[in-house]
Amino acid sequence: MIKLHDKYFKPFISAKAIDDALTKMVNEIANDVGDEIPVFVGILNGSFMVVSDFVKKYPKPCEVTFIKLASYEGVKSSEDIQRLIGLTQDLTGRTVIILEDIIDTGNTLHEVHRIFKNENVKTLKIATLFYKPEAYKKDFKLHYVGIEIPNKFIVGYGLDYDGLGRDIPEVYQIKETQHMTNLVLFGPPGAGKGTQANFLKEKYNLVHISTGDVFRYNIKNETALGMLAKSYMDKGELVPDQVTIDMLNAEVEKNADAQGFIFDGFPRTNAQADALDELMDSKDSQINAMIALEVDDEVLVKRLLERGKTSGRADDADESIIRNRIKEYYSKTAILKDYYSAQDKYFGVDGLGSIEDITVRLSTVIDSL
Ligand code: AMP
Repeated sequence: MIKLHDKYFKPFISAKAIDDALTKMVNEIANDVGDEIPVFVGILNGSFMVVSDFVKKYPKPCEVTFIKLASYEGVKSSEDIQRLIGLTQDLTGRTVIILEDIIDTGNTLHEVHRIFKNENVKTLKIATLFYKPEAYKKDFKLHYVGIEIPNKFIVGYGLDYDGLGRDIPEVYQIKETQHMTNLVLFGPPGAGKGTQANFLKEKYNLVHISTGDVFRYNIKNETALGMLAKSYMDKGELVPDQVTIDMLNAEVEKNADAQGFIFDGFPRTNAQADALDELMDSKDSQINAMIALEVDDEVLVKRLLERGKTSGRADDADESIIRNRIKEYYSKTAILKDYYSAQDKYFGVDGLGSIEDITVRLSTVIDSL
């Protein structure tokens, strides 16, 4: 991610993809132009990189010139196109190909056509590296298009945000969503994740999603998902990944405006962790930390048997099921410590002590992020 002025941008189109698109355009154009010597007209400022790389690839003689138009301010396209430098040579009878870095609304193109209206060129064709079909409001034909992109503001490869970013060899896309804090609260069953999540969600204004709670809600309401999950949960086994991942995605989507999430009981497998990264990525966000409550097994068994007296949870009532849940945790879930450690996102916290003491320990980690 990069920051230009006040805005964040994320990687969008690689230098290699740009180069491939340019090569394709060069081949098409060279083929169509044949043996004539074309005049490539770049539209400054944005097109300087496109024109430079394009003509270096062009296999036959050609001429290059520029006109300079100012088409927008900041991140908004503007209707008001100013002609700062017009044509400085006679192009009568020539094959002219406009080389644009990007065509969005088409307002610049309108001005280009006005400039060429009385020039008596032989042909005027338009080539653009990037094209935003959703934004395009004009009828002018675009003869050559490199890459179609969604209607989002981009920078790099000649394109700027208030002057910055033109020098970057790749293209970045603006990050529109607000900054989120996303935590994975981790630890074996009975470590106190649910209890702590209740404090932390208030303190940091986060949405708490416990996959176990969502499954239990579905079981109580006898939904199809609930029925499916119950068969696994009753034995202390994990519900299959795809079922759990789909459910988690749906829970996150229900809270589209959240300032962040506490994930409790998810992810429990590598596949779930990958799915969570993908989901966060789709929101221009990420998991900031996995905070693990570390508690000794025998303490866990004791705590869960105690909870089972009042929780009504079948999987808390039986010691062998409890031990199986702890075993599932160590055999399938504990590996996720490596997953997040590799990204420097793992924070272990001692889960023994009073509820308040543990909240303080967790808060210290969160405040340091
Ligand atoms: P918990 O309330 O987190 O202790 O979860 C209770 C049970 O729900 C687990 O033993 C699993 O059967 C099921 N479950 C909860 N979260 C997941 C998950 N992320 N993946 C698979 N199964 C889960």
